[in-house]
Amino acid sequence: MIKKDLSIRILIVNFAAQFLGGNIVDYMRQFVIPFGGLKAGNYNFAFEIDDEFFENFEYSEVGEGRVQVVCRLERQERMLIFHFHFTGLVTIACDRCGQDYKQPLDGETRLIVKYGSEHQEVSEEVLMIHEKENEIDLSQFFYEYIHLLLPMKRVHGENTAGESLCDPEITRFISEDKTPQVDPRWEKLKQLKDNTNQEN
Ligand SMILES: [Zn+2]
Repeated sequence: MIKKDLSIRILIVNFAAQFLGGNIVDYMRQFVIPFGGLKAGNYNFAFEIDDEFFENFEYSEVGEGRVQVVCRLERQERMLIFHFHFTGLVTIACDRCGQDYKQPLDGETRLIVKYGSEHQEVSEEVLMIHEKENEIDLSQFFYEYIHLLLPMKRVHGENTAGESLCDPEITRFISEDKTPQVDPRWEKLKQLKDNTNQEN
């Protein structure tokens, strides 16, 4: 009976998410979870983030992308614990050649929502909400976490032969620039120094 009860709850949450998000009027509405009416228990749902999501953030480093977020919510009387698993591909600019490439993403995180006297971000993982709030917008949290998952070094990968997939027209110049330029005078000095060392 408990299992059956849970699956019905999941259905209701999924339906609510679809109902709110399937509407063209407001794409972002699907990321708002109306938890007010949810009884204590576990709920599972999923989100599909696509290009339209990133268009809503002016400073997004991701232009296009498709990210699936699988979510498990532990609804307690005085607290909500969200567990998220992000997987997907996003398009970002390569630091080396400047051309766009697709970066795979994979990461898990959680968000703890507690009741308090005011709405306040306590830390990256903890959000305090006011007693009267009965829904939570996850879009900003998703946006920030996706950017957190981007690697520090953003470059095209390599093909199976180990060759860089960077734009060859651009990297041709980069490689030329990287050739160490040794001042011939220093080279002479170095030789002198080496010879001295050998003599000692
Ligand atoms: Zn590149």
